[in-house]
Amino acid sequence: MDAAIIAIGSELLTPEKIDTNSLYLTERLNARGVEVVLKMVVGDNRQRLVAAMRHALAAADLLILSGGLGPTEDDVTRDAVADLCGRALIFDPGVLEAIEERFRRLNRPMAEINRRQAYVIPGAHILPNSRGTAPGQWVEHNRQHILLLPGPPVELKTMFEAHCLPRLDALLPAQVIRTRQYRVAGMAESDLDQLISPIYSKYKNPATTILAAPGDIQIHLRARCATEAEAEALLAEVGDPIAELLGNRIYSRNGDPLEKVVGDLLKQRSWTLAVAESCTGGMLGERITSVPGSSNYFAGGFLTYSYEAKTKLLGIDSALLEEHKAVSAPVAQAMAEAARQLLGTHFGVSITGVAGPDPGPETEPPGVFYVGLASASSCQAKRFQWAPGDRHRIRVIATQSALDLLRRALIS
Ligand code: AMP
Ligand code: MG
Repeated sequence: MDAAIIAIGSELLTPEKIDTNSLYLTERLNARGVEVVLKMVVGDNRQRLVAAMRHALAAADLLILSGGLGPTEDDVTRDAVADLCGRALIFDPGVLEAIEERFRRLNRPMAEINRRQAYVIPGAHILPNSRGTAPGQWVEHNRQHILLLPGPPVELKTMFEAHCLPRLDALLPAQVIRTRQYRVAGMAESDLDQLISPIYSKYKNPATTILAAPGDIQIHLRARCATEAEAEALLAEVGDPIAELLGNRIYSRNGDPLEKVVGDLLKQRSWTLAVAESCTGGMLGERITSVPGSSNYFAGGFLTYSYEAKTKLLGIDSALLEEHKAVSAPVAQAMAEAARQLLGTHFGVSITGVAGPDPGPETEPPGVFYVGLASASSCQAKRFQWAPGDRHRIRVIATQSALDLLRRALIS
């Protein structure tokens, strides 16, 4: 069974408020093998909501509505569902009794407008609301299911757990979802897709999604099957050849970010690390120290932005800087080696580059950076060039490239 979700409320169309209920619902549905195929946000408008529901029910047999069950005129979900089903709302004395009882318990008078919340779609199954006033409703229409749930997240969650999931489980065929994911550093999304799409595009199940962030690509595979064994077999059929093609460009198979993967490798080997950063201004150190327990392997670093800082803090020869300029392989190597020696660590990693967007005083253009990597036995530097324009993106990619160069050295 496929599901659609409509979040209802004009506030959800402003820059101030975001729909989070659908994220919760999607997580719960996916865990049961129900795919969410469509999601919409609609303001408090009866006609637009009816149109949106028609559209959603063309795509999915389970439609979950969140919000618009309040007592005021702008809460139109009940009316819109009645319009859609061609049924007139009826007053339910039992529901009113429950609402009145809630107000009595809270020792508050009930406003007359709360009576609106006691109107139900004829034939609806009423879903009690233990955390608020408005009950939910489960309506069957043309063999499809429409759920009316309250907007406040705590009310929606409590109601969904207690009264919707059991009914849903009874409807669903036995089905499981299994997932796999790979994270890849340092590849452009188009290059990666060209490489692996001949494999995954032949399959609808498992479904493949590719999420690209600067210098970081996640490949997600989701298999839906009747049994766990079938799902795992399908994941292997598609995932194994992808993993084979990508080889050690895959840095994580469990979702861990690169700084965690590198940290684990250092910790396993009882090796230590120091850094020297120029154009990333501390971002590399920030990422490394965001991992709990990083003090086991990370000694510290140097933030050497100017030529003066590079000479004074790292002791880099000013003749070397003048000859090659700061964004160069010899300076990247000297920075990595100086950090390593000054802090007495096994490895030193450095970044020096032109983050842009404007050209600096360097000979290299914006978008170019060097990563230096020093160990007791060797010292190397690698040049990277990415399209300039977005300063933050270049800086993130530089830290990603530095961590990945270190990772490859650690596993080789
Ligand atoms: P309603 O049921 O429309 O009266 O919603 C009441 C409150 O719940 C709103 O003021 C929102 O703050 C919150 N709310 C409604 N819909 C959502 C949603 N989709 N995600 C998160 N919060 C919501
Ligand atoms: Mg509302």
